[in-house]
Amino acid sequence: MSKLIYLDNAATTQVYPEVVDAMKPFFTEFYGNPSSVYSFAAEANRNVLKARETIASALGAKTEEIYFTGGGSESDNWALKATAEAYGNKGKHIITTKIEHHAILHTAEYLEKKGFEVTYLDVDENGVVKLEELKAAIRPDTILISVMTANNEIGTIQPIAEIGKIAKENGVLFHTDAVQAFGHIPINVDEMNIDMLSASGHKVNGPKGIGIMYIRKGVKILSFIHGGAQERQRRAGTHNVPGIVGFGKAIELATKELDSRIKYETELRDHLIDRVLNEIPYVRLNGHRTDRLPNNANFCFRFIEGESLLILLDEKGICGSSGSACTSGSLDPSHVLLAIGLPHEIAHGSLRLTLSEKTTKEDIDYTVDELKKIIERLRSMSPLYEDFLKHNK
Ligand SMILES: *Cc1c(COP(=O)(O)O)cnc(C)c1O
Repeated sequence: MSKLIYLDNAATTQVYPEVVDAMKPFFTEFYGNPSSVYSFAAEANRNVLKARETIASALGAKTEEIYFTGGGSESDNWALKATAEAYGNKGKHIITTKIEHHAILHTAEYLEKKGFEVTYLDVDENGVVKLEELKAAIRPDTILISVMTANNEIGTIQPIAEIGKIAKENGVLFHTDAVQAFGHIPINVDEMNIDMLSASGHKVNGPKGIGIMYIRKGVKILSFIHGGAQERQRRAGTHNVPGIVGFGKAIELATKELDSRIKYETELRDHLIDRVLNEIPYVRLNGHRTDRLPNNANFCFRFIEGESLLILLDEKGICGSSGSACTSGSLDPSHVLLAIGLPHEIAHGSLRLTLSEKTTKEDIDYTVDELKKIIERLRSMSPLYEDFLKHNK
């Protein structure tokens, strides 16, 4: 392909060359099983520990509170199912939101079939959880609150510290899906009263198929994958050493540059948002204007079908997304856009563009220039738009 402008960093990210370099020796040279006793395995073991320390320190957690998993979806499943199992005799009520990732929503629906009751909180028009509704939803039999740190579609960041405080005051465990947030915005598990947290390597320039779960000391959740004694007997399976090392390296890079990355991406994001809102008519920004991920922009264009927009952008070398990767391909509009109150026909015309620190202003300007032409072209072919213009002369 001649030109590639990758604006789908919420779906996955480039594995940085420095990350690949850090991983390489653990495939061919230090391939020992870190659980083995001989000294040949020591290098692998030492680097698994180093990655664990890097990740713990980035979250303000203790090293032994980090558990490596097979990715964000596994961590989300583990948090909900194992909490349900361990605390099910205390209560059978779980609180989450309508805008969670499907790894949470479908797990919650599964638990409903197993006799648990789940409250799915509404969000406001910006996608923010209403704290008063959260408080009102807590019951004596509530065992878990699970609210994502930042939304993968519209980028809205939740008031995590306030939610953590409410959970703590009520003696309820608090889990957050931080897959989109970890390494992108500051998170501190103590200051935010987080008991469990899911994160994933491939959303932060690390490899795919590696994730973590942070579990606060004292939380009694049980193993989800049974087998060997790895991960303090809470997650069996031979360590994915290259993946763990790569995730650690990615977090080392991300935390070192966190402030400058946030500043750079926020400016670029705002340039994108300003240009689209100023230069394209009948457009709406989805998600909170300021409390949003530094790299996320999400728009609805009236009289436009999201899929056709993506295909025409692709012809210009631009990778974007409508809704999330898991739902595109289906005709259902995004559950997140419906939850912020958009009607079906508008939710269908959505476009998510997610930047990286390697995206340039030229990339953004080229994208907006092409987007303007594409929207104009699609609208000129739309009978709905023609009709609208006739009635609004
Ligand atoms: C990508 C994503 C997941 C799933 O993580 P995987 O590592 O791909 O399994 C979960 N939650 C959110 C918010 C995500 O963006």
